[in-house]
Amino acid sequence: MLTPDFLGTRGDAQVADGKGSRTEILLHEHQREVWVRTDRLFAGLLVFEAFCCLFAGLFITPRTWIVATGLLHVHLYIAVPLSFLIAFLPVVLVLTQPGETLTRHVIAIAQACMSALLIHLTGGRIETHFHVFGSLAFLAFYRDWKVLVTASTVVALDHFLRGVYWPESVFGVISAGRYRWLEHTGWVVFEDIFLMQSCRQGVAEMRRIAERQDAAEDATRAKSAFLANMSHEIRTPMNGIMGMTGLALETELTEEQKGFLATAYGSAESLLTILDDILDFSKVEAGKLEIHPVPFHLREEVGDVLNAFSVRSAAKDIDLIFDVFPDVPDALNGDIARLRQILVNLVGNAIKFSVQGQIVVRVVVQSGVDQPLRLRFDVADSGRGIKEEEIGLIFRAFEQGDSSMTRRFGGTGLGLAISKQLIELMGGTITVESTFGVGSTFSFELPFTQAECLVEPGHHTKNFAGVKALLVDDNATNLRVLKRNLGTWGVEVVVAESSKEALQLLQGGECADISIVLTDVHMPDMDGFSLASEIRDFLPNIPVLPIASAIRPGDYEHCRAIGIARPLLKPVKDSVLRKALAELLGRKDIVGGTESVNDQMKRMPSDYYEILLVEDHEINQKFAERFLSKRGHRVTVVANGQEAVDAFKNSRFDVVLMDLQMPVLDGFAATQIIRGLPNGETTPIIAMTAHTMKGDREKCFEKGLDGYISKPVRPHELQAELLRVMQAKKD
Ligand code: ADP
Repeated sequence: MLTPDFLGTRGDAQVADGKGSRTEILLHEHQREVWVRTDRLFAGLLVFEAFCCLFAGLFITPRTWIVATGLLHVHLYIAVPLSFLIAFLPVVLVLTQPGETLTRHVIAIAQACMSALLIHLTGGRIETHFHVFGSLAFLAFYRDWKVLVTASTVVALDHFLRGVYWPESVFGVISAGRYRWLEHTGWVVFEDIFLMQSCRQGVAEMRRIAERQDAAEDATRAKSAFLANMSHEIRTPMNGIMGMTGLALETELTEEQKGFLATAYGSAESLLTILDDILDFSKVEAGKLEIHPVPFHLREEVGDVLNAFSVRSAAKDIDLIFDVFPDVPDALNGDIARLRQILVNLVGNAIKFSVQGQIVVRVVVQSGVDQPLRLRFDVADSGRGIKEEEIGLIFRAFEQGDSSMTRRFGGTGLGLAISKQLIELMGGTITVESTFGVGSTFSFELPFTQAECLVEPGHHTKNFAGVKALLVDDNATNLRVLKRNLGTWGVEVVVAESSKEALQLLQGGECADISIVLTDVHMPDMDGFSLASEIRDFLPNIPVLPIASAIRPGDYEHCRAIGIARPLLKPVKDSVLRKALAELLGRKDIVGGTESVNDQMKRMPSDYYEILLVEDHEINQKFAERFLSKRGHRVTVVANGQEAVDAFKNSRFDVVLMDLQMPVLDGFAATQIIRGLPNGETTPIIAMTAHTMKGDREKCFEKGLDGYISKPVRPHELQAELLRVMQAKKD
């Protein structure tokens, strides 16, 4: 006996009312895909069959029916349009309700009717009866045995009725035996048994796949949870290491001790980056990573990212060049934190895999005039390049171009995989072009919108019109980029590719009306400082602005001694260059540019606060207490939520820094109780937590906290959040 369960189609009702297990849901999704796909196949087939009926009606029927009756049968005129009528309803249902039970069954009825019609049009030829078997086999594609029952019932009914009342139409004879329809139906049932068995096997296979998929998803979830947990566990002691090292660095130390501690701090930061990468990867894998677009200034932000690499690039004698085309808008909306992360990864790799040469970070508009804005970022290096066979691998997680034991470069192999996933999440694409031994260019494209709320800095206003500058640099790309940028501000630029050429130009009188000299510091033959000294000998009043890849100890004093401006760090941000030019040329009317996040950080909270620090980890207590006391705040330290509530009852605090995971009473519960105490409603409470997964921040705000800092606590983040929360309270 074939029961619905035996045939493997259970689950619909269960799933529909939401009670089905995850496996049932996955199975249902898979089944739906099959149903929709088969519906579409049948829609096409039915239309095709309608045309076949037309063909049969016009060319076959006159022969078969003339033989039988001697004249063209009047029913044929009805039968031909009937084929299109049969196809009409199923096609409409496929278009409006694909994958639905009703659609499947209407298709089954229509397909059986189409067989009946074809049999009729061919004068009941026995060969056309094979169409019925073909139709049933095709209906088995649904892997739903009920559809076969519907179609077979129509076939049986049709054979019975026409066999009795119009045998020529179905059996091609004027009179047929009473039970001939039963014989035909018997063969149909015979085929059905095999087809139903194949449906059952199909569904059982789909269930096995769903079970495996469910198990795989479970494993991924468990892995993500494990990673989140590990991240929390690692972050807590890291907080202590970084905090204490940071504090130690602020004390009196010998240069040697400072060097040791700075290395320890740097290593802790790298470890944290790896941790963040692993966490990000697991978040992307689990579909938990979200994009947060905010307004930002492109040149400023990307410039900051590149400036942070200047020490590393200078150590390798690499020229780091930032080349933003003038038509690229500056005030944009996008996830700047993620863009920064991608650039840090690509530029970091470019430096890591280069020995010397140059790295150009180029930004160009990729979209047309009336299209939504898309920018392309190129990071081009002249490093070791990537072998052709490695290119396919490098975007995969944990894969490295050279994973041999002898490789020279460290890394986790996660950076590019994460960057690719982030870019795709933001609606972009990433590609790479590379020649081994010559260099690589990683290019990615991202959509942005222009930020109405930010003022476009005047990076293309010609407010330096009339200024003539001599630009000296041995790097042709640098010269081209600086010349073009200065040109957009109205500066007339003369270029020299060496100090010698610069001196010739200046002494030859070609640059008699020059207003300023901008010179690279690091050049072969004669460096920028020596050039400046020589210039000073015969042009004592022309401002000279040195641009250096790294500022070494003593550089500022040296510049002062020669009588030239302080060097600017490469790659020079537009805002910094404009400000320097304005100062050196005495143009007080020109404002320097936008305030960067770093500038905002430098602003200290002007007041000193009474702070309640709730933290169970002893080392973290020490760090936060020392850090805050050093900045003039008074800190009371307690070790859990209950102690925090008691302390709050007895004293007044301006702000509470609250760890969340604590013994006795956790941070959320303590916050709730404090909110019910006098002054509790108005006292800002900032969460200080190692929970950094998606939604943790939002959860804190939902639970009534006013601020959020992730651990390990970075001094500038703590300061900035304190400033923000206290400012919000004042407002
Ligand atoms: P990691 O740098 O941590 O090994 P990534 O995912 O960032 O991991 O990079 C994967 C691999 O791609 C690297 O190991 C390296 O072989 C190759 N690669 C990435 N960027 C460059 C580059 N600029 N030049 C040469 N090889 C590169």
